[in-house]
Amino acid sequence: MCGIVGYIGEEQAYPILIKGLHRLEYRGYDSAGVSLINAKGELLVYKAKGKVSALEASVEGKDVSGTIGIAHTRWATHGEPNETNAHPHYSQSKNLTLVHNGIIENYKALRAELEKNNMTFCSETDTEVLVQLVEYMMNSHHCDLYTAVQLALKNVVGAYAIAILEKSHPDQLVCARKGSPLIIGVGKSATGRKEFFLGSDATPIIEHTKDVIYLNDEEIAIMDRTGRLEITNLANVKQTPQLVKLQMNLDELEKGGYAHFMLKEIWEQPNALRTCIRGRLNMADKDVLLSGIIDHKDKFINCKRIIICACGTSWHSALIGKYFIEEACQIPVEVEYASEFRYRNPVIHSDDVVIAVSQSGETADTLAAIQLAKEKGAFLYGICNVIGSSIARATHSGTYLHVGPEIGVASTKAFTGQVITLALLGLAIAKEKKTLSDDMFHMLVEELQMIPDKMQWTLEHNKGIDEYAKTFTYCKNFLYLGRGYNYPVAMEGALKLKEISYIHAEGYPAAEMKHGPIALVDEEMPVVVIAPKRGNYDKVVSNIQEIKSRKGKIISVVTEGDTVVKGMSDYYFTIPDTRDCYVPLLAVIPLQLLSYYVAIAKGCNVDQPRNLAKSVTVE
Ligand code: GLU
Repeated sequence: MCGIVGYIGEEQAYPILIKGLHRLEYRGYDSAGVSLINAKGELLVYKAKGKVSALEASVEGKDVSGTIGIAHTRWATHGEPNETNAHPHYSQSKNLTLVHNGIIENYKALRAELEKNNMTFCSETDTEVLVQLVEYMMNSHHCDLYTAVQLALKNVVGAYAIAILEKSHPDQLVCARKGSPLIIGVGKSATGRKEFFLGSDATPIIEHTKDVIYLNDEEIAIMDRTGRLEITNLANVKQTPQLVKLQMNLDELEKGGYAHFMLKEIWEQPNALRTCIRGRLNMADKDVLLSGIIDHKDKFINCKRIIICACGTSWHSALIGKYFIEEACQIPVEVEYASEFRYRNPVIHSDDVVIAVSQSGETADTLAAIQLAKEKGAFLYGICNVIGSSIARATHSGTYLHVGPEIGVASTKAFTGQVITLALLGLAIAKEKKTLSDDMFHMLVEELQMIPDKMQWTLEHNKGIDEYAKTFTYCKNFLYLGRGYNYPVAMEGALKLKEISYIHAEGYPAAEMKHGPIALVDEEMPVVVIAPKRGNYDKVVSNIQEIKSRKGKIISVVTEGDTVVKGMSDYYFTIPDTRDCYVPLLAVIPLQLLSYYVAIAKGCNVDQPRNLAKSVTVE
């Protein structure tokens, strides 16, 4: 949440910062702001409520010159989303400006202390405390900015990624992080001199350089125009920066002709999943090769239990993973909301494997959950999409999704990427534990390899939904039902609709409907039922009958060739036949399309839904 961009070099900073903010806008869009030091040495700040485009409009005709700057797009945690609370924040003397991602938990106490020392505040944010505290340290200790940041951060409880400009030292940029991500890009300007970029993720940096440094927790960096980059930790111990090459292409960050990133990402799924399984399925031997498992196979063979920690959509994919792993590997699996797990003193043993699932790899609660599990001696495995992310670095082993950057706030291809990765993981463990017969194992491998083609088929055969979706513009509620592997899909379908169309929706196990939600069903209530011709098909048919008797509208997801459920439905989506355990990978696609087109029909901004941000780097 919140995007930070920074630049110091020989180019004009403003265009670089604005473009960077647009790339990070998925992280928050309550307000945007930029701070620059121009050639006259003035420390400028421009801010606007709302999106980055509002900031651009507000600076028209104003001085946005300067070759050093910081910028921010906000997802408000403390203080309403208005211009005053927007970042960057000035220090009292206006010698410093600062942008921040995270939450300062002890900001009230710090603010009270600073107020006693005659410092006055303009905003309601926790962030303003940081810039004032740094200035206070500079004045009271007569030290430079870098030392003052070190001193200030020692007093701070909470999470932060920060970047700071100092008017009296216009040739340097200082940044630091703890718990919120920050990346430094190291580039070369036209004259061959080093220039530096900052980003909350790699997306604002990639078009300038592929050489990056991932700042670690409690590290502070200073960059200047001579090309100097120094990193120390809070205890002032010098750190050696590790330069890493980014593996990302610019075109992955563009919409490529689609109206929205979400639609592009829905349609990208067949190819994204082909990339995900490439090299991991060996079709000649009908085998699965997952180095993250092979290198630590004893941990998985001997573990008594697997705990999967996740939030949001990742929690739904984790639940599908649980069903798969329990069935294929005969290991008990618990799925936990990371935010609950981390605060309830859970029982964790050293022979537990804890798997963290997070698209961004930066989800604050999931990161904290695995840190807790690490302290208790568990083996940690990460399933993330973003390479080099905090969770990927904090775990003992793991698997990247390799589905490419996901920009749309509502997760689509990362969800299917996680489901297929958990299936690969289940197969890889089953192979080591010999819990599946050879025939079954080979059949599951063969079927998995066909999934991307079946996804393509599903996309091609469910195009009419854009028209039909208009029927639901005025709906207030939706119910989603599924059984077995499709119960988490029902929850995921409901979440997608809520997120982007603001229609209330609930996902429920189909048989549980009788224990409550059926009371809600009337002629106004659309009920989406995932009813593939597999598993509990007959039971689901009975559930549909029960809804129809109460005049509910049935929208079903059926297997190609089905006539019974089709005949009972007001609208149906068709998917190809596949094994029960892989149905979620196909059944979720029409549900993604349904929520997308309902949101479009309602005129909602699907890529930037209200109140949401993509990677939740605050608790
Ligand atoms: N806590 C800061 C604010 O509300 C930053 C929020 C964030 O990083 O999401 O302005």
